[in-house]
Amino acid sequence: MHDQFATYLEDPFLKLLYTDLSKAGPLKAILMDVTHVCNLRCKGCYFFEDKMDQYQSPSDEAEFDGFIAREKARGSNFVTVVGGEPSLQLDRVKKIYDAFWMTVVTNGINKIPYEGFENMPIGLSVWGDHKTDTYLRGNNKIAVFAKALANYKNDRRAIWYYTTTPRNAHEIESVTEQCVANGNYVTYNFYGDISGLGGHYDHRGGFELVRREINKMIRRYPGKILISSYISQVVSTGQLFDEEWGYNVCASITPDNELNKDRVLNGNPYNSHFRAYNPDLKTTRRCCVGNDRDCGNCYDVYAHISWIMINLKRHLRCKKDFTNWLTTMYLFYLGNRIVDFEKRVELLPEIHRRSSYWSEPDAYHLGNESAALEAILDEAL
Ligand code: SF4
Ligand code: SF4
Repeated sequence: MHDQFATYLEDPFLKLLYTDLSKAGPLKAILMDVTHVCNLRCKGCYFFEDKMDQYQSPSDEAEFDGFIAREKARGSNFVTVVGGEPSLQLDRVKKIYDAFWMTVVTNGINKIPYEGFENMPIGLSVWGDHKTDTYLRGNNKIAVFAKALANYKNDRRAIWYYTTTPRNAHEIESVTEQCVANGNYVTYNFYGDISGLGGHYDHRGGFELVRREINKMIRRYPGKILISSYISQVVSTGQLFDEEWGYNVCASITPDNELNKDRVLNGNPYNSHFRAYNPDLKTTRRCCVGNDRDCGNCYDVYAHISWIMINLKRHLRCKKDFTNWLTTMYLFYLGNRIVDFEKRVELLPEIHRRSSYWSEPDAYHLGNESAALEAILDEAL
């Protein structure tokens, strides 16, 4: 294994990525709901489908501070902050921001101010173009996407987490254009139809057209898209080499939760530090998306990225696979600002150029970014 590593890392670009990751060190991640309250009721929201709002957040500030102190002492260094709607609990989001690497996912209706949150990665959720998004998220009344665009105009902290649906692939281009024109970054999620809406929203239609559109967007905006074609392929097909996605291989489980007592013994790797905390910050759930979610329709991108990350050995058989593993890791660290975002975001075009699963392998050409890349390599190595 050591020999293969050394050979692959003779490539200066891979060496640069690997050096950055090594400097940052391993992640000890948790996920927490910072509040049980939300100002929307999106169709297919796992949080309310699974009635997680029954675990109410502590009203006592000392209790919240105690949680932060315990997680610090336990060694946690990265927190995914969800909810509920985190922007309704900004004072607590600020405490998390000051204590850990973190990312927050918000519906964007309330702007998270710049002051005090200058380097915070902000994931803005959008589920389709204005009509679709207003239907799915705004109960056909609130123009959520339009409000969030206005709130985060030219805000470089903002990364759109665009949840795509199989038969709405034709909306991807327009939504992506609007997000990029707004001065933001984009990544993609895949909608699992847990509310049984069917039709355009039924994941059983398969994501091939969606993948093709995402690849098109990566080619068009290589400096703006924070998911690789490799990650998109693994998430949407549920296939990692000969392994199929599902509960038995999912690494994003809470290991000490009673519901997972058999899973941790089945021999497949998992993140031993990870916990997904309910809003009460005392109880945990089976995984990031609940206790009862059907793993068969789970397209959670973070969970799939963990699956890739924890399977380094499978990615060592050739340089191409190793590159896919390393770029997956790097995109996670970059998007979550664990490595210096402003300095390293210029690497995105080259990361995409090297990621596999292009339907037309030669269609991606590196343009005049190559000079900038050489300058970065010269400085770093
Ligand atoms: S904004 Fe998020 S937490 Fe609130 S209902 Fe929608 S998906 Fe659920
Ligand atoms: S629902 Fe998804 S994240 Fe949760 S255990 Fe199943 S596969 Fe893993």
